[in-house]
Amino acid sequence: MGKKDDFQRTIAYGDAALKQIKRNEIPAYPKNYELWYTYSAGFNHALNKSVNEILKAKGSISPQEVDQIYNRFMSPQRLGERIEEVGNLISDEIGQIVDTISESQSSASDYKSSLEGAKTELTSEQDTDKIREIVSNLIVATRQTEAINRNLEVQLAESRRQIEEMKESIEAIRFESLTDELTTLANRKHFDQSLERAIDEAEHSREPLSLLMTDIDRFKNFNDTYGHQTGDQVLRLVALAVKQNVKGQDIACRYGGEEFGVILPMTSLKQAISVAENIRKSVMSKELVKRSTGENLGRITISIGVSTYTVGDTPQSMIERSDQCLYAAKRNGRNRVVAETDLEEPETVQVA
Ligand code: GH3
Ligand code: MG
Ligand code: MG
Repeated sequence: MGKKDDFQRTIAYGDAALKQIKRNEIPAYPKNYELWYTYSAGFNHALNKSVNEILKAKGSISPQEVDQIYNRFMSPQRLGERIEEVGNLISDEIGQIVDTISESQSSASDYKSSLEGAKTELTSEQDTDKIREIVSNLIVATRQTEAINRNLEVQLAESRRQIEEMKESIEAIRFESLTDELTTLANRKHFDQSLERAIDEAEHSREPLSLLMTDIDRFKNFNDTYGHQTGDQVLRLVALAVKQNVKGQDIACRYGGEEFGVILPMTSLKQAISVAENIRKSVMSKELVKRSTGENLGRITISIGVSTYTVGDTPQSMIERSDQCLYAAKRNGRNRVVAETDLEEPETVQVA
């Protein structure tokens, strides 16, 4: 039954993708198909927004525009290319600064020679006309040096502005590379890095550290009933509930499709269970209404597994323990929080 549903859903996306390719007379290359498939499935919100803006403005989209959108939103090299671009800009900028500084150094050294020359001449010179000439030459040399230095200041200020801009670009790229586009939570890469760091810190500081793993209950049913795009909206809503119930140094991540991981530094198991309960309650309290039609979609629930750091833990061992708790929560009826201490007696689980 699951396979058949997947078949129907994906064929529908495929059909919709081909329809768009034909309508816009775009070559049906695999990468163009991939883009339109992604568009039809609504996997990538930012991509859909860009395509829709063009379609709204012009009624159709050209192969060149499709290429640009692919490179911007889908090409796996996209971040790498942007990083390279910023890298090139920085090295150009440094080249310019070095040129400006050497120009100013050579002018300073010319100026120094003029001053030394004038000093020697002035000590032996008696003729007032000559002295006047030496002084007016000095004034010219001083003015030239002043102008060059002013120019250096202007150029350095401009360089500083450009470098600040590049710093912002690098920050934006870094943020993007660590952020999940759909939910704007941290992505899996960020999660892996953060959990590793949090475990290192817990080991050294002897402060507690806990980990929640959450999974939406019967989400496949939801998608099959209301469509993947509505499912994505629900994912955003769950992400928001997670975000609203954590703070400070807690790190909420999209671990996988409909699974979230929450790293809770300085948090005991007991406190972590209470955070998990708040998230669970906040998700189930939301009544889902489809914006476009006003249709009431009922409520959604999530299950959560909670583990806490003990000496010798690795990211894998903590994830594994939270996962075991999560499965226990599913086995025991879903919409509940199970902590690792509940697993010690297999049949007693914390009931919501
Ligand atoms: P349960 O967890 O309660 O056992 O049931 P489930 O139906 O949620 O089962 P499971 O967690 O194994 O299924 C994951 C489903 O979540 C499959 C897919 O339909 C849906 N899903 C995964 N990632 C996404 C996503 O990015 N968007 C949407 N809309 N759905 C997703
Ligand atoms: Mg799952
Ligand atoms: Mg699930």
